[in-house]
Amino acid sequence: MKTIKVFAPATVANLSCGFDVLGCCLDTVGDEMVISLTSEAGVKITKIEGAILPMDTHKNVAGVAVEALLKKYGKDIGIEIEIYKKIKAGSGIGSSAASSAGAVWAVNQLLNQPFSPQELVEFAMEGEKLASGNAHADNVAPALLGGFTLVRSYDPLDIIKLNTPKDLVMTVLHPQIEVKTSDSRSVIKHTVSLKQAIQQWGNVGGLVAGLCTEDYSLIGRSLEDVIIEPLRSILIPEFTAVKEAAIAKGALGCGISGSGPSIFALSKGIETANLVAETLQKTYSKTGLEFDIHVSKINNQGVKTID
Ligand code: ADP
Repeated sequence: MKTIKVFAPATVANLSCGFDVLGCCLDTVGDEMVISLTSEAGVKITKIEGAILPMDTHKNVAGVAVEALLKKYGKDIGIEIEIYKKIKAGSGIGSSAASSAGAVWAVNQLLNQPFSPQELVEFAMEGEKLASGNAHADNVAPALLGGFTLVRSYDPLDIIKLNTPKDLVMTVLHPQIEVKTSDSRSVIKHTVSLKQAIQQWGNVGGLVAGLCTEDYSLIGRSLEDVIIEPLRSILIPEFTAVKEAAIAKGALGCGISGSGPSIFALSKGIETANLVAETLQKTYSKTGLEFDIHVSKINNQGVKTID
């Protein structure tokens, strides 16, 4: 039996202006998975710890993503998957994406890497389709490629890995309320005005340029979302207070992580990120809700093996 143990990272998708196209990978928040090649053909989920999730291969995103990979591989292979969950489902920091990405990355390693990172993204997207009804790539792409990623096109799929400025640090506040991706998709409108679109694509261009040239001020100015945030933020208690507090302490920008309820703040340097964490702790303590706060550097590698 050939076995591999991996770290399956949490990710922050959208990054304010880049709905469904931008995302980045976290370093200190993520699940662990143990994946084995076995002699008995078929994909089995043999253990899940840390969360109540389906053991049925066809209902667990890890199983579905690996089956998509094996279908393309074309040989009858046996795979066993153990999932040690640390990222809560429905947190908005890519819980389902971590499982899909971790599983396909590990199986690709066990099979001596027959597939490219972009092909792995496509398999992992099948897991996202199961979790939210929509095969989006903005969490699985950074989980697999690391750093910041841009989905330039979904059809055909074209994923671009962007530069990661070395001083960027993420602070994430996770209120312990579940907002399902499918629910938070239902509040958004399917049409935008030309005025909003112009603002939004200006910001996406600015953010990408800021990341590539390591212009922290440009990154900050571009972390603005005029389309999705105004509609979705109503689902997150005290969103505006949190955002104002983070910016007041020096964060470059602050917005909804993925489909929420997590809120991210991006800062230059660990000191500022820690100050932001402190102020969010104070601000959110007043709500009476349970919450977690994470401070993480950007993980430029994505899924990786661990001992
Ligand atoms: P997140 O934004 O944190 O990824 P989602 O709402 O997109 O959360 O996905 C969570 C959904 O996916 C839940 O309904 C959960 O039951 C389902 N799911 C199936 N398999 C897994 C898995 N291995 N890890 C996490 N969620 C899973």
